[in-house]
Amino acid sequence: MTSTTNSRSIDSNEQMTGRGVSNNAVFHDQRPPELGFDNINVTIRVRPVSTKYGLYSDRKESSLNFPDAGQIQVCDPISGTSRSFTFNVVFEPEATQEEVFEHSGVKRLIDMSLDGFACTVLAYGQTSSGKTYTLTGNAFEQISTSESTITGKGSPNDGRGEGQGDRGEKKMIGVMQLAFAYLFEQIKLRKNRSLFYIIHVSYLEVYNEQVLDLLNPSPKSLNVRWAKDRGFYAENLFKVECEDIGDLEGVLEEGCKNRQVRSHSMNDNSSRSHSVMTITLASETQDPEDPQGYIRREGRLCIVDLAGSEKTKRTNSKGETLIEANNINRSLLVLGNCISSLADPKRRSGHIPYRDSTLTKLLADSLSGSGMTLMLDASETINTLRYAARAKKVKTHPIVQMDPRELLILSLKREVRLLRMENNYLRQQLNLGNGYLVSTSNGLAGNKTSTERPTSNESNGSMDEKIQLNGEAGLQPEILNKYMQENESLRAENSQLHQQRQTLIHDHELVCRENERLLRRLSAAGDNADSTARLTIEDECVDSNHLSSDLKSNAMKDLKGSRRQALDNERQTKAIQQNQLLVQHNGSVDLSPNFELRGTSAAAARTRIIRKSNK
Ligand code: ADP
Ligand code: MG
Repeated sequence: MTSTTNSRSIDSNEQMTGRGVSNNAVFHDQRPPELGFDNINVTIRVRPVSTKYGLYSDRKESSLNFPDAGQIQVCDPISGTSRSFTFNVVFEPEATQEEVFEHSGVKRLIDMSLDGFACTVLAYGQTSSGKTYTLTGNAFEQISTSESTITGKGSPNDGRGEGQGDRGEKKMIGVMQLAFAYLFEQIKLRKNRSLFYIIHVSYLEVYNEQVLDLLNPSPKSLNVRWAKDRGFYAENLFKVECEDIGDLEGVLEEGCKNRQVRSHSMNDNSSRSHSVMTITLASETQDPEDPQGYIRREGRLCIVDLAGSEKTKRTNSKGETLIEANNINRSLLVLGNCISSLADPKRRSGHIPYRDSTLTKLLADSLSGSGMTLMLDASETINTLRYAARAKKVKTHPIVQMDPRELLILSLKREVRLLRMENNYLRQQLNLGNGYLVSTSNGLAGNKTSTERPTSNESNGSMDEKIQLNGEAGLQPEILNKYMQENESLRAENSQLHQQRQTLIHDHELVCRENERLLRRLSAAGDNADSTARLTIEDECVDSNHLSSDLKSNAMKDLKGSRRQALDNERQTKAIQQNQLLVQHNGSVDLSPNFELRGTSAAAARTRIIRKSNK
């Protein structure tokens, strides 16, 4: 056997560092475009020759070649013919478990299921080709009877194949355990970005066409039902919530313990059933476009370990083992038929025989629906490679899994957003581009012009919208400019008037002060003040203020007030004189120094004083 070791870089995105990894460039950018189609990805792992069962020992040195990235060539030494196949990745016998996990595309599937896609990893191949080993390592094998106890050279955990290194009695993990670790790593990273997950796991096996719950063992099988929103599903399947990697590993261990395993001449731990582990990843994140809203997604990672097809003569199956083998072969045949139909563009739209076996019912979604599938093919015979090559042609249509109601809400929100944008655009067109004013319905009749005409918005839109529209829309730029200019001149006029008012107030104060001065002079004049003098003062008052013609009327008003005051004062003076005479006469009037005697009130007070003094 010739085995080439590809360690070169195929794509700048991913360095192929591992030994025994052979792949092609397609693999490196295989993430499907959003809502686009994608083919089933197929990865081939060629197992090392088994020393214990003599398995694949007939593989001649020249029968297998790895000519190029992702290529495998099978040569028939007898006829001398050869056939080449190209897959996404081809792992040579030396590849370790870690290398298979790193480069097979499983990581990408985990990322996608965390994003809400339904993804499936399908391990396919003939019996003893290493499907279970690739998925779970030898962790659940009966070590004492298995080949893995054979001592060799390598380190215990280097993931080398049997006969390739020293694994001693150490247990080795497989793609599933590595996937669990990666899954929780990613969940932790996403948690930092406020993305939370709730993980549920179920684990079942299809044994002799019956569905058995591996986490809730019971002799009674589960019914497979179909629902419009779920497709085929196992009814009453037990689901466990897992919070950490330990929980997931516990589920795997429990399931493997309960799985139907039998020994035959090619495998001490031959799986007699197809097992399906489904990890449901429900996530909730805030809608970036709506702070009130949340987006819920439900991604799914389904890991399927198929029972291997077997030549019953070769495995020496009898009795129960023979019945199992027939059932396994039959269901794998139906799976092959479904794959052939799906791979053929002409038959794809026709009838696909999913209902012909329990296995294909449960895998229907993974094969053709909204899921993303990776087939880990662990064999290298012409037949199995043909099978895998057909599977590679099957197209799937991966879409994010969401609650239908949530999906409806999201699509409606999206529609509203688009309509809003359209609405804004139309408004802009209406306001700036069409050269007319929008007629008003809220009484802004003053804005109406002869150019205005009704718009479709007016006839169809809501009142609120119309009011808003009118408020924003009615003014043309040139009219707006005119209004602004007018506004400016009004503002200037206003400030002028304001200044004038200030001047008037100032002048008024001057007049008041002068009047006070005159009053003081008047009172000082006392009894001797005669009317001529008063008039002189009045004239003086008028002259002294040098009132401007504008202020004259104000000044005259003040003057009249002053005259009245002067007359009052005169009366007051007289009253005081009379009072003094009375005091001299009666000798006992108590007259407070603050007692004010002004005008008519002064006369009344005088009368009172007199009465009092008379008592
Ligand atoms: P399958 O599930 O395909 O029937 P298994 O995974 O049970 O086959 O493998 C059969 C035996 O071969 C097991 O003992 C397993 O440990 C061993 N084996 C399979 N593949 C490898 C490998 N790549 N390296 C080392 N041992 C392997
Ligand atoms: Mg197996």
